[in-house]
Amino acid sequence: MYILKEKLFAKIEELEPKMVQTLCDLVAIPAISPADGGVGEFHKAEYLIKKLKELGLCDVSTYALPDPKAAGGERPNLVVRFPGRTKRRLWIVAHMDVVPEGERSLWHTDPFKAEIKDGRIYGRGTSDNGQELVASLYALCALKELGVTPEYEVCLAFVADEEMGSEYGICHLLKKGLFAGNDLVVVPDMGNENADFVEVAEKSVCWMEFTVEGKQVHGSTPHLGNNACRAANALSVALDEALHAAFPERDGLFDPPESTFEPTRRRANVANINTVPGREVFSFDCRVLPSVPLEEVTKIVDAEVKKAKEKFKVEITYKFPQMEQAAAPTKESDDVVRTLLAALAEVYPGMKPKIGGVGGATCGAFFRRAGIPAAVWCQEIDCAHMPNEHIEIKHMLNEAKVFGLMMMGK
Ligand SMILES: [Zn+2]
Repeated sequence: MYILKEKLFAKIEELEPKMVQTLCDLVAIPAISPADGGVGEFHKAEYLIKKLKELGLCDVSTYALPDPKAAGGERPNLVVRFPGRTKRRLWIVAHMDVVPEGERSLWHTDPFKAEIKDGRIYGRGTSDNGQELVASLYALCALKELGVTPEYEVCLAFVADEEMGSEYGICHLLKKGLFAGNDLVVVPDMGNENADFVEVAEKSVCWMEFTVEGKQVHGSTPHLGNNACRAANALSVALDEALHAAFPERDGLFDPPESTFEPTRRRANVANINTVPGREVFSFDCRVLPSVPLEEVTKIVDAEVKKAKEKFKVEITYKFPQMEQAAAPTKESDDVVRTLLAALAEVYPGMKPKIGGVGGATCGAFFRRAGIPAAVWCQEIDCAHMPNEHIEIKHMLNEAKVFGLMMMGK
């Protein structure tokens, strides 16, 4: 295995110029969602199909949903399959779509013309998620060129629509029944520069918006109206206290380890000081540990709203603009995590990765909800969606080595 590892690493290093070129090519084919004013993934998929053929990876399937606003009238997802020693599958899921460039004047380079400088590549989509797409592709290519049969059937998925909800992407592939419960799924779409964070869990996301209605009057005659601001203030504090009191659980997987219930947006009410507001709209952003059912959270909300209505004689309505129960975490003992950690130990000797959860849903969540253990990991600079998005070429090579070792069942 040691010799094979050395050969794999040398092969990946040899492939560096091709990897760099491929990523630069991809930057020039943005694949922005039609909902964001782009044409979708059709052209990028076309380029990749050609590239895959060139690299001798010929088992490529396209799974597309129609989208009349997209180039080609569809939103393609590509799946590259490569047979392994066993029938068990290892998936590496990277997304083709990118976000728009944003404010152009903040870019020092053309966002859609890659520039290589000081071991870095600049351009929209280099980091999110081109680096990982290219790393997974050339990891497989390296194994193929070395004539090594992977341990697992390797499935590379280059998916659509990650940035706008994954309906045309991962969700479509899941509905198609492409994945099985014993598959190993890696979604390399979130990580840090040190490569030492493996995401296996997320908190439930629950957004709440409350509208409190009283009666607006002049500030000198508050007794003639009903001050919605006072009722909203009281309700906001009551919710804050009641929710924290009801859910004190802690889980060391997460940072912070407890559920969070944050009062956030407050809509503007009246323009002047001497008006008693008749209407207040405010929100909470709650990130709840997966062990807490969200119905329990809404029960507390119901009770506090009822109390505030009675006490202040106001109307209170509320809604949940987002409410997503978190899936059960992927376990540290699951094969995908074990295989990933073993590979990380080879590529980053001495590193102690943290296995943990995050406050909001990543694409790993779609798989976990479907009962498929998934790990989210990559090595990247924190610059996704920002101007001057870029990668370190050495991170891309490291990722390819990790993916290559995982394919070999290391
Ligand atoms: Zn991404």
